[in-house]
Amino acid sequence: MKALTFDGKELKLTEIPKPVPTENEVLIKVAKAGICNTDHEIIKGYIPNFNGILGHEFFGYVKEAQDKNLIGKRVSGEINLACGTCEFCEKGLGRHCPNRSVFGIINRNGAFSEYVTLPKENVIEIPSEIPDERAVFIEPLAAACEILEQVKILPNHEVLLIGDGKLALLIARVLHSTGCKLKVLGKHQDKLETLGEVGISTVLLENFTPKTFDVVVEASGNSTAFELGLSCTKPRGTFVLKSTYAGGINFNPALVVVNEITMIGSRCGRFEDAVKFLQNHKPTLEKMIHSEFEFSKALEAFENSAQRNTLKVILNF
Ligand SMILES: [Zn+2]
Ligand SMILES: [Zn+2]
Repeated sequence: MKALTFDGKELKLTEIPKPVPTENEVLIKVAKAGICNTDHEIIKGYIPNFNGILGHEFFGYVKEAQDKNLIGKRVSGEINLACGTCEFCEKGLGRHCPNRSVFGIINRNGAFSEYVTLPKENVIEIPSEIPDERAVFIEPLAAACEILEQVKILPNHEVLLIGDGKLALLIARVLHSTGCKLKVLGKHQDKLETLGEVGISTVLLENFTPKTFDVVVEASGNSTAFELGLSCTKPRGTFVLKSTYAGGINFNPALVVVNEITMIGSRCGRFEDAVKFLQNHKPTLEKMIHSEFEFSKALEAFENSAQRNTLKVILNF
């Protein structure tokens, strides 16, 4: 089968043997996969030691499984492969299992290949009413939904979201669904307009007059936004960090102490929540697709998605 591999130096479209599922695993034929900033970070060396097939945002069709009812089903896959026995796994927090591998990110081949295998407990069926163009967003949407699992956001809360990139646009949809007073701060008029169309209030950075909010979510990926986000968080408010900054940042914790701010780091979320969100809110995510490429043109697709300000680039298998 064809696979897009990274050997620590070079991204290559190669021919490799089709994976053979173990007894507990399911074999899935990939249908669509999305290219994520994380994939680019791996190629740039920000996430070290990855060697294998990239990709973690995908859906496909089950080809082989012990449970014959699964065969032919359209599914996606939770990307954290947990041990199932440690203290975190016992609490249902496999996403924090210290023994985990992560599909397409840490010690496990990912989705940019014609076939993938995943443990059956990682596989989630996608209800038929969710169109393919939205199903491909389940993994990043789960990361957006994670915020609501960590922070109780009420309709009377004033919430500031900083960022208008791929993840931020999904977070905006999720925060908006709570009925809170949301403001999205970004740098790109065209991206902010896609939110304006669905009734989300936005402001360009150059027009933003700083004020304070009950909850601030920093999802721009830009380290200068950290200080802005912190200064816009009300005393006793919550500052949610969705960005990692290559190279880290220096910051003075005085504001956190003086204003008694709760800072929360937020990463991956539950796929079930993303599927429910797609069913209940029917967000028009297809507008976030910048371009689609046949898998044989995967290298071109990567170049395309590396350009500044592109939205989601999709590979079709
Ligand atoms: Zn991703
Ligand atoms: Zn574990």
